[in-house]
Amino acid sequence: MFNKAKNKSAKVNECYVKIGDWISWSWELSEGLVSINEVKEFEELMKLLQFVRIKEEDDRWGWSGTTKGGFNVKMVREELEWAGADQVEYLRIWNNWDVPKVNVFIWRAGLGRLATSDNLQRRGVHMESYSCPVCGTTMESTDHLLVSCSFARVVWGQVCVWLNLPLVGNGGSIMELLHELVSSVKEEKRKKMVQAIGMLTSWCLWMNRNNKVFKRIAGSESKVIDEVKEISYMWLKYRVMMESVSWEMWCRGNLVV
Ligand SMILES: [Zn+2]
Repeated sequence: MFNKAKNKSAKVNECYVKIGDWISWSWELSEGLVSINEVKEFEELMKLLQFVRIKEEDDRWGWSGTTKGGFNVKMVREELEWAGADQVEYLRIWNNWDVPKVNVFIWRAGLGRLATSDNLQRRGVHMESYSCPVCGTTMESTDHLLVSCSFARVVWGQVCVWLNLPLVGNGGSIMELLHELVSSVKEEKRKKMVQAIGMLTSWCLWMNRNNKVFKRIAGSESKVIDEVKEISYMWLKYRVMMESVSWEMWCRGNLVV
């Protein structure tokens, strides 16, 4: 739809007409809707827009869980609890060894809110292919991409060898995998480190997928593993402030923390 819009830099307030308390969305297209898919996309867009309420004030960023628009961690927790009591224990992962964007990514993955092909298809978004962009063998879903995809299985296998842990990821969800990953670790600090590495591995698998989809860059399992080791080492040094661990010790899996 964006490609069809005549004025691509139009502001929101140039795209509707106010009729009393209601608004009617309206903007010029460079050409008419020619295919069934375009008509479907347009209808889908209108369905989404019917829930949008416009206020006569300047735009600002806000958190959807509150009318005040502010953000704090308590609100995230409340939203997680609202998401379902049976999932809360899995979803309540927030590991401060990882940067916030990785924590938010895991939270969204646990709620099934990543823009994977199965989710996009459910929302009526037309795509040339709904297959997993990494292996191409089945429809892409969060748990396929991060757990059961042949690419992900190799990566998890190598992570487990590196951390000297039993192999994880025999099917199931990404949250189950992360839970399984730390379940054999006894010491609390090491548990936290293993969890942080597990979350980071999931993030790197997602970035590998995005590079393939959006930049046509074919990654490799060893490249993802290298990224996990490098990024986690940087965090260890500069976020957790464990300066005594050398890069060689880290790569050897000498992970006594
Ligand atoms: Zn796959």
